[in-house]
Amino acid sequence: MDIAYCADCGRLFQKSGLLICKDCLRKQDALFETVKAYIREHGQASMAEISEALDVPVEKLIRYMQEGRLILGKHIDYPCERCGNPIHTGRMCEPCMTIVQSDMAKAARDLSALAGDARRTDAGAGTGGYRSRRL
Ligand SMILES: [Zn+2]
Ligand SMILES: [Zn+2]
Repeated sequence: MDIAYCADCGRLFQKSGLLICKDCLRKQDALFETVKAYIREHGQASMAEISEALDVPVEKLIRYMQEGRLILGKHIDYPCERCGNPIHTGRMCEPCMTIVQSDMAKAARDLSALAGDARRTDAGAGTGGYRSRRL
């Protein structure tokens, strides 16, 4: 059984590919509905207004947007994690995504070149991964 601490309420819960427990998930879904309804009514509301009206911290709204689960509207933006340019969804702006993706592809190529015949250890980090830590 995989047990983890809920990212929202901090309680232990049975992990099932989610970061938060079922209670928080239910609350979150209800919150999304409330936020969406609020945006339908107040189309041009700012993030601060939504946060205040619905009593949701701005950081939470941003996190939901970064996770792509909530889109507040084109007029609401928050900074790209990499360069700080305003974005509306996800964690980074498109130019940064492109850069990071090509960096990752390059790193993966370097890694597989380095790994060479040690490729059999793809069982995952959980089991015996400590055996081949040296790069
Ligand atoms: Zn929770
Ligand atoms: Zn960026």
